[in-house]
Amino acid sequence: MNSPLKPSKVVFRDHKGKKISSYKLNRGDEKYLTLNRKRLVGVLYDKYLELGGEVVFNNNIEDFKNNDITPKDKSFDAELIFGCDGINSLLRTKKFKSIPPIFSGFTAWRSIKESSYPFEKNNGEDINFYLGPNSHIVTYPIGERTYSATCIIKSSDWTEESWILKGFKGEFKSDFKDWNDDLLSYLSDSELYKWGIFQRPLLESFSTNNLFLLGDSAHAMVPFLGQGSCLAIEDSYCLAEILEKKELTDEAKKIFDDLRLSRCRNIYKRSLRQAKLNHISNPLLIFLRNKLLSYLPLANFMVRDIHSYDLDAELKKII
Ligand SMILES: Cc1cc2nc3c(=O)[nH]c(=O)nc-3n(C[C@H](O)[C@H](O)[C@H](O)COP(=O)(O)OP(=O)(O)OC[C@H]3O[C@@H](n4cnc5c(N)ncnc54)[C@H](O)[C@@H]3O)c2cc1C
Repeated sequence: MNSPLKPSKVVFRDHKGKKISSYKLNRGDEKYLTLNRKRLVGVLYDKYLELGGEVVFNNNIEDFKNNDITPKDKSFDAELIFGCDGINSLLRTKKFKSIPPIFSGFTAWRSIKESSYPFEKNNGEDINFYLGPNSHIVTYPIGERTYSATCIIKSSDWTEESWILKGFKGEFKSDFKDWNDDLLSYLSDSELYKWGIFQRPLLESFSTNNLFLLGDSAHAMVPFLGQGSCLAIEDSYCLAEILEKKELTDEAKKIFDDLRLSRCRNIYKRSLRQAKLNHISNPLLIFLRNKLLSYLPLANFMVRDIHSYDLDAELKKII
């Protein structure tokens, strides 16, 4: 599979394709990479096996009592349990005072496009944001001649039973009907999937007894700052460092909550704010937003502190 790529800039355009602004990436020692998620999972998986880890596939966890987790075929007695079972987490539902996932009011169309050329012919290595009324599209390369597209639209509800569906070209084009036709034709000429975007209310703590929630099971949020998987990886690294030094103690749990609750709450709230900014529909406000984006380094400024977060430095202050 392809190696990660180093994008050189982020470009903002309106929904007709007209450029609004851009800022540079990967100057100096910055490290921004874009890559296929499968590749990242593959790297983590190989490392886990190398460290002696074992994976049991095709075994849904069906029950959970204290130290005992029970998939279909056998039961495990576990000293420590990490609940990484996503937004629909069974472990969260069983062990935390928990409200079910709530539809966010947004639907995502997603595709991975294999093409000999990018849509923006001179910007194949860039991250491209297109901002339209009540909708936005992000495209970026995830490997040689492979592009990822996420197309978000405001929608009143999600009535399908499944959270992910195969989507149809005609429906996609009608959701984005006033958009640049060439862009829509380019994107819809590949397999499209449609997702309802859900979130879960924030918890007061990410642990109970010997169970820790990580990733979406702990803090599923709207994806408009592209941080869900990043936070899941940070959670795991943070917890591993704390447990190594403090073992499974109340102090360890408190340090984990102190570090992760504030970081995740901050990004959870800002992702919702970003949703408002990306989906403005009032023409006057669109004009003002685009002017601000074009004259001030606003887009870069709004995410700089998220991207430059130094977890090692934060850990050093506490443990
Ligand atoms: C449209 C969209 C765009 C996004 N864009 C980005 C982005 O650009 N950058 C970013 O960082 N994040 C992004 N995200 C968010 C990201 O996808 C999630 O935050 C991330 O996948 C969460 O990882 P996770 O491991 O916690 O959960 P998941 O990826 O949901 O994994 C959970 C796993 O647990 C398994 N599981 C569930 N229940 C059980 C059970 N009972 N027994 C056994 N196994 C079980 C599932 O099969 C699954 O494999 C986006 C999300 C969406 C919807």
